[in-house]
Amino acid sequence: MSGTSTFLGGGITVDLGAIVRNWKALDTVAANALTGAVLKADAYGTGAEAVGRALYHAGAKFFFVATPDEGVALRKAVPKSLIFVLDGLVPRTAKDYAAHGLMPVLASMSQLTEWLDFCLSQNKAIPAALHFDTGFNRVGFRQKEAELVKRELDQSGFEPQMIMSHFACADQPSHEMTRKQNGLFQGILAHFPNIPASLANSAGLMASKDYHYQMVRPGISMYGGRAINGRPNPMAPVISMHVPILQIKDARIGETVGYGAAYRLRRDTRLAIMALGYADGFFRSLSGIGGQVGGKVAINGTFAPVLGRVSMDMTAIDITDVEGLVQPGDVVEVLGPNLGIDDVADAARTIGYEILTTLNGRFSRSYVNVPEGLDIT
Ligand SMILES: *Cc1c(COP(=O)(O)O)cnc(C)c1O
Repeated sequence: MSGTSTFLGGGITVDLGAIVRNWKALDTVAANALTGAVLKADAYGTGAEAVGRALYHAGAKFFFVATPDEGVALRKAVPKSLIFVLDGLVPRTAKDYAAHGLMPVLASMSQLTEWLDFCLSQNKAIPAALHFDTGFNRVGFRQKEAELVKRELDQSGFEPQMIMSHFACADQPSHEMTRKQNGLFQGILAHFPNIPASLANSAGLMASKDYHYQMVRPGISMYGGRAINGRPNPMAPVISMHVPILQIKDARIGETVGYGAAYRLRRDTRLAIMALGYADGFFRSLSGIGGQVGGKVAINGTFAPVLGRVSMDMTAIDITDVEGLVQPGDVVEVLGPNLGIDDVADAARTIGYEILTTLNGRFSRSYVNVPEGLDIT
C-alpha cells in the first residue's frame, strides 16, 4: 500500500513486534496444538507480506488466506510455509493453486471431485484440506455428506491435510452454539480418525482447550483485537494512526457544523478540522450529531469529540477543552494508546475487525519494532 501523506504528515503504524508477541502468547495457550496464523484481507489491514515474514521468522509455518490471489502474494514472502485458501477451490483453477503451492480448503462435493480429478491427471496427491459446516451456514460440506466424502477419499486413496470447521458464536462466552458445533465436529471427525483437525479461531482458542484439536487458527487476537466480548483483552495493541489538523476556527453558540447542519453548537466552540474522513476508514457512524455516542480522537492526552457528520475527507472535532496550543499541521491520535480498535469499533457500532480492514485509505503505513534480523522490504 502506498500512502500519499508525504505532504500531510500523519500515518498508520503497525507494531510488528507486538504481532509476533501476540502470536507467541497464543501459541503458548494452545501448547498441545500447532498454531496457524490467519492473514486474510492483507493480514487484517496490517500488511500480509511483512506480517507473514515476521511470523515465519518467529516459527509460524501454517498460514490462512481468503482468496487464491492473497495466497499468491503471500507465497513470495513465505516460500516454505503451508498456505491454506479459505475460500476453497475456485472452479477450473486447480492447476494455479498447485503452481503456487496453495492448499484449497475444499468445501463441496464438486470442489472435492475437481481436486481429485486434477490429482489423478497429475498422477500425485496434491495437499488440500476439507471444511465441514457445523451450523454456520457459510462454506463447507454438510454433515450428512461426511460418509460420501469418506467414500470418495477411500476410493481415490487421497488423505486430506486437515479437516476443519468454524465457530459462529465463540465471541459470546456462554453461547450454547459453540458447544453444539464442537459436538457436531466430533461426529464428523469420527469418519476420519487419522486426519488432523482444526476448529478454533481466536475466541475458540481462548475459550477452551477442548477446541484446540491439532491446529488453532487465530486472526484478530494477533492484531490486538478483542476476541471474546465482555472479558478483558489480554493482547498487546498493534496499530496506531495519527492524522493532521488542517484548520482551526472559532464558532459561536447556535451555529451548525458540517453536512446536513446535523449538529448545532451549544456553546462557543473551538473547532479543529482533521484531514480524516470515511474514505480513510473513519466510519460515518462516528459522526457527532447529539443523542448518541460519536467518535473522538486524542490530543495531548485529552479526548476531543467529533462534531457534526464525518465527511469523505474531513471531520470536525471540538478542541475547546484541550490544553496547550493546537495548530494546523499538528497530528492527533485516531488509534493508539488512548484509543484501541475496539473503543473505536464500539463507538462506530461495528467490530474491531472492520475498523482494521477498512484502514486502507490515504495514510502511509510503517512498521515499528521489527524483529531483529528480519528483512521486511
Ligand atoms: C477469519 C477466520 C479465522 C480467524 O478468526 P478470528 O476471529 O479473527 O480469530 C479462522 N478461521 C476461519 C475459517 C476464518 O474465516
